[in-house]
Amino acid sequence: MLVTHSPASVLHDPTGYFRRGRTVEHPEQASRYRILRTAVEEAGHALLDTADHGIEPLRAVHTDSHLDLFRTAWDRKAELPGIGEEILTGHFSRPQMHARPEGLLGLLGYHMADTSTPVRAGTWEAIYGSAQAAISAADAVPERGAAYALCRPPGHHAYADSAGGFCFLNNTAIAAERLLARTGGPVAILDIDVHHGNGTQGIFYGRGDVLTVSVHADPANYFPFYAGYAGETGEGAGAGANLNIPLPQGTGDGAWLEAIGEGLRRIAAFRPAALVVALGFDASEHDPIGAFKVTTAGFEAAARAVAAAHGTVLLVQEGGYLCEALPGNLVAFLRAFEEARR
Ligand SMILES: [Zn+2]
Repeated sequence: MLVTHSPASVLHDPTGYFRRGRTVEHPEQASRYRILRTAVEEAGHALLDTADHGIEPLRAVHTDSHLDLFRTAWDRKAELPGIGEEILTGHFSRPQMHARPEGLLGLLGYHMADTSTPVRAGTWEAIYGSAQAAISAADAVPERGAAYALCRPPGHHAYADSAGGFCFLNNTAIAAERLLARTGGPVAILDIDVHHGNGTQGIFYGRGDVLTVSVHADPANYFPFYAGYAGETGEGAGAGANLNIPLPQGTGDGAWLEAIGEGLRRIAAFRPAALVVALGFDASEHDPIGAFKVTTAGFEAAARAVAAAHGTVLLVQEGGYLCEALPGNLVAFLRAFEEARR
């Protein structure tokens, strides 16, 4: 399997994270990149250091104001006297109050959904590199049939103009746009991260050329709470082009794979030119912030289903947090995918 990645991924390494009233260790650490990269290297996959495709492919998904803020925020830190290793706000715009302010603190709250996405010295380089890795993989996929983008930080909670849920730039959506341009479309996205792919849904909600399918834990009592319900099916030109399959917490292999099968049947009916899989491993039974009980065998079965579903498949790394099972689940997924393709 071709694996694209960016060494700049490690330049964003947040430490603390405000969770349920306490500051805890940030789950989305740079070591995720190192661990996943080491695992695919040791498994013998071909690693490709991503090329720089520039800012234009990012502008296909994100607003200029969103990109400008995260590109320049650290350089503007002098606007916030006493700032330490990172810039973060505790103030957020709401549907009832959403004028865009000028000052840095207010802008951060305008372009963020929560406190999980601090800006540090290397944040822009890391998120830019992560997005570039997704683009490099998208460029390789039409010819090679499959590729895996080792994206870190992840992306599927980022909207066109909002970061959140550890995500700044939506790597999956950026890759889908790239594939749409390369293939003529349409493109389908299957998100199997344990969390709903709310940013990806939001980006394509009004469009009919990208089908978005997400299998995730019921948001009624799980992040991202405010989106991911079965009744959200798209609007306007995108009416019917969004499928959410929320499942109860504690869901194991059987029901999870059935839901993925349902998603893949919808995708087959859509007849996409390419399939992008938002590949989170936090559905694992061992994930520290997960809610499902998916085993390594479950991930292998998902890989076989995805491999059989389409001839042009781009795998984009999303969530999956530090635990002993994490690198093994990635390696097992890629191995099962490749064996199914032989
Ligand atoms: Zn997740």
